[in-house]
Amino acid sequence: MTELSKLEIWFAAGSQHLYGDSVLKTVDGRVREIAQALAHSPEIPVRIVPKPVLASAEAIRELCADASRDDRCIGLLLWMHTFSPAQMWIAGLNALDKPFAHLHTQFHRRLPWATLDMDFMNLNQSAHGDREFGFLTARMGLARKVIAGFWQDSDVIAEIAAWSRAAAGWREARRLRVARFGDNMRNVAVTEGDKVEARMRLGFAVEGYGVGDLAARIAQVGGADVDRLVAEYDDLYEVAPSLRAGGERRSALREAAKIELGLQAFLAEGGFQAFTDTFEDLHGLVQLPGVAVQRLMASGYGFGAEGDWKTAALVRIMKLMSAGLSGGVSFMEDYTYDLTPPGQVLGAHMLEVCPSIAAAKPSLEIHPLAIGGKADPVRLVFTARSGPAVTASLVDLGHRFRLLVNEVDATAPPEPLPRLPVARALWTPRPSLKVAAGAWIYAGGSHHTAFAPALTAQHLADFAEIAGIECVIIDGATHLAGFQQALRWNEAYYSRRCR
Ligand code: MN
Repeated sequence: MTELSKLEIWFAAGSQHLYGDSVLKTVDGRVREIAQALAHSPEIPVRIVPKPVLASAEAIRELCADASRDDRCIGLLLWMHTFSPAQMWIAGLNALDKPFAHLHTQFHRRLPWATLDMDFMNLNQSAHGDREFGFLTARMGLARKVIAGFWQDSDVIAEIAAWSRAAAGWREARRLRVARFGDNMRNVAVTEGDKVEARMRLGFAVEGYGVGDLAARIAQVGGADVDRLVAEYDDLYEVAPSLRAGGERRSALREAAKIELGLQAFLAEGGFQAFTDTFEDLHGLVQLPGVAVQRLMASGYGFGAEGDWKTAALVRIMKLMSAGLSGGVSFMEDYTYDLTPPGQVLGAHMLEVCPSIAAAKPSLEIHPLAIGGKADPVRLVFTARSGPAVTASLVDLGHRFRLLVNEVDATAPPEPLPRLPVARALWTPRPSLKVAAGAWIYAGGSHHTAFAPALTAQHLADFAEIAGIECVIIDGATHLAGFQQALRWNEAYYSRRCR
């Protein structure tokens, strides 16, 4: 899977020829110096590549065309160190097929009061150069991220880092292919959607397969490979006694391992980075894939249950965005509540929660599944670690997509859960369960989410801005009346935009 360190953001300053070569040379040197500093910042996961100063419409158009063509380039970081008459940018920005962020900074933090002269003023005029550029990008209605502040400050670096992850997520969205085994869970609405619109707006493809195609690949898995994988299970997890070597359910563990190997091979051979299945369509599979899905998610695949291709794609994109960050990303479902104030959500699924969010070593267990009519599935059981997280849902409103995000705080369950045979997370939604659940339901958010301790709402807001879709965030400051009003205003705005 893609390593973020191989991806590039190209950093370029705009100018013009009015100032003479020595000014342009100075600007060039400063772009290189800032690029180097940003590149050495451990927070920024991608390469920051300095580009020569842009002083003509032709140079701008060429850079934008090169960036659009270059597969490693995920976006541009642009800065008007001096004044760059912005009409020069129109053709280039019209041709740009990558996102851009506008870094509004200045090389010096402090003004040199005693020596300040007009040469200094003319060299360091981003205060008005960036406003000229800002006007044009506003006038053109372009999606962009504006990052204002001194380039060495931690908040500026953090914003560049977050945006670079969003830009990498956008690159992934446009390349992503989701394998959909079987169709949607019959009659379910929220997991459905318009796959053509998704490909037009977000870029990813959803490709359907009969589950028999997967069963055929699983049947080809060799016994020696199964031996190796069950040995790995034995090493990595607290294996339930009945599943251990010599235990009476050991054959079910071998079957689970065979499903994992077949599923992994199918996805790798087909070039898929995400997948869905459904318990209603398992013809030819002995068990509903449990540990297989959990471990494939942990290795980077996106997943959505019951045919939920939107969440599968979102989980994959968010996993890519969070590469190198701690905390993990998982498929999740709002399952049941504790309504003791302030109110908590117990999230889980039948089986498929990713161990990247686990607080401790998972246990590998086998239990009956009440639905689906298949053999008992093997699954990893654990509790998610405590700390801040976001839940996110990609909503298909028929004519457009909405990305819905809730900031939450995961906590340890107040008591042990000895009879709950699935992985789970317990969280308190911000600002409260009452407001968050009300807002979520007004916004049409799914019960399926991507649950991400590794990411923040900022990552997702930046991604949505790049994608040109609505993003609504439920956070500690959300008031229900204002939230509802924002949904209505957004409806007018995005309906106009998306026509
Ligand atoms: Mn479900």
